[in-house]
Amino acid sequence: MRVGVGVLVRNRGRVAIAAALAAAVGLAVAGMASHASGAVGGLLKVRLGGDNQQTRLVVDLDRAASGKLISDGLADGHAVLLLPTVSAAGGLQGAGQGLVKAWAFEQTPAGARLQLDLSPDAKIKGRFLLPPADGVDHYRYVVDVVSQPGGVRLTSTKSSVSAVALKLRPEIAPARATPVALKKVIVIDPGHGGHDPGALGAQGYEKDVNLAAALALKARLERQGRYRVVLTRDDDTYVPLAERVRIAQGAGADLFISLHSDSGPDATVRGASVYTLSEKASNRAARFVKQDDWFMKASLTGDRGVQDILFDLTQRATKNRSAVFAQTLVARIEGKAPLLRRSQRDAGFMVLLAPDVPAVLLEMGFVTNPEDEQFLRDPLKRSQLMNAVGDSVDDYFAQATRLASR
Ligand SMILES: [Zn+2]
Repeated sequence: MRVGVGVLVRNRGRVAIAAALAAAVGLAVAGMASHASGAVGGLLKVRLGGDNQQTRLVVDLDRAASGKLISDGLADGHAVLLLPTVSAAGGLQGAGQGLVKAWAFEQTPAGARLQLDLSPDAKIKGRFLLPPADGVDHYRYVVDVVSQPGGVRLTSTKSSVSAVALKLRPEIAPARATPVALKKVIVIDPGHGGHDPGALGAQGYEKDVNLAAALALKARLERQGRYRVVLTRDDDTYVPLAERVRIAQGAGADLFISLHSDSGPDATVRGASVYTLSEKASNRAARFVKQDDWFMKASLTGDRGVQDILFDLTQRATKNRSAVFAQTLVARIEGKAPLLRRSQRDAGFMVLLAPDVPAVLLEMGFVTNPEDEQFLRDPLKRSQLMNAVGDSVDDYFAQATRLASR
């Protein structure tokens, strides 16, 4: 059942990639044209990226701005957003992409009014302002549109009403689009599952080790009551990679931790590794193809065209945060994990491609190495390792809080 869904999603994704690439070329031209005209103050251009699962609209601005959501679009397919301090004199409109069929800016007495025509079951999920950073010299107001198919309309009226009533304020920081959660949300992703068993060791499959470790980490993180923990799977089920990313984004993840166990042809090779996302993702991922075919799938299904547009915007900041977490993780598991083999190498794993969620992938050790496998199969040692991972999560948020208060 789940397999069928996964295949369907992937096929739709391929079509969307082609559309996204085509649109990207057109967008660059359209963007330059509106920029050159200079007719609109504040508003530089509008760009779109993404596919039929998630679409991102970026409004390039020459100054900071706040936005007010009038309608998230789920009720009738028309999303409306007001940017009171922005001028859209002369108007601006364009063709859509992905879930956005068309968009139009018009000037009203209350400010620039953005209307989006959305696909059925699509809605504005979040918005945020990105200040100039990472080589971009202007502000960007980002609007994320997601698809929520299947029975969502039952609650749609309620959610869109509450969104308006709350008058969601944009966050002035490289922040997540979701409202600030009281508890930090940690998404744990046990690699593989179901008909995708992962690596094979002498005592069994990788997927079972990954799940057991994920459950141990969940227990550790929930002990203090400081975190809300979401698993991408909590049983032996196959979950497509793209779905794992969507789970993280849908949960409003503050941190994403993917747990895997390594394998290789040489039984003497052992040790844990920590990965974060790389610019040269596809090249590096290809090098690990032989070790774990899950990686191959990850690198091959990476939507390069979409990534370039969609992920470029927030990824650099996110990557920095991922690297910070990777450092704390390495420091904590040193001596507790099976002999750290590589650390903080980069790779283009699909599960690490959520654009605004810091993410790392931890290879806990080699199931093809007897000592490592013994370690990973030992519930006590596994728990100790996961406790150390939990400590690194504490470190990471303590550090983030310190930086924010500077
Ligand atoms: Zn794996």
